[in-house]
Amino acid sequence: MSKTPEEKLAASRKWKAENKGRVADYKKRWNKENKGHVDNYNADHYRLDPEHHKRRRTVYARNERRNAISEYGGECVCCGEETFEFLTFDHINNDGAEHRRSIGDPQGKSMVAWLKRNNYPKDIIQLLCFNCNHAKAKYGSCPHGGV
Ligand SMILES: [Zn+2]
Ligand SMILES: [Zn+2]
Repeated sequence: MSKTPEEKLAASRKWKAENKGRVADYKKRWNKENKGHVDNYNADHYRLDPEHHKRRRTVYARNERRNAISEYGGECVCCGEETFEFLTFDHINNDGAEHRRSIGDPQGKSMVAWLKRNNYPKDIIQLLCFNCNHAKAKYGSCPHGGV
């Protein structure tokens, strides 16, 4: 004798109710195993292609730098140089070393992140190209006359 759909549904509900603990255990185990699987996948992936992660970090850092540069007007405030590779963040009061020490970043490696966290403060940082930055740092002002 075959069961009606109602009977099948009732039987299925009854089984689930009786096996609640088992289903939960199974789910818990699956999640745990699946998490391990994902971690392993990442570890394998990293081992197989460490360059991929490096590249992604580089692209991220470059984008953050571009954002920061455009926040600061996108060009050298002295000569108008707009080339991304030539631009640098200049401490207006020449207190860069002191400032980097005070934020625990003596080499200025996370300067861009710091600028972002602090909403790109315009009173202490300006955009200069390396030429103008160098002239200002070394001789106190740039021969262009802008800083
Ligand atoms: Zn310049
Ligand atoms: Zn200049």
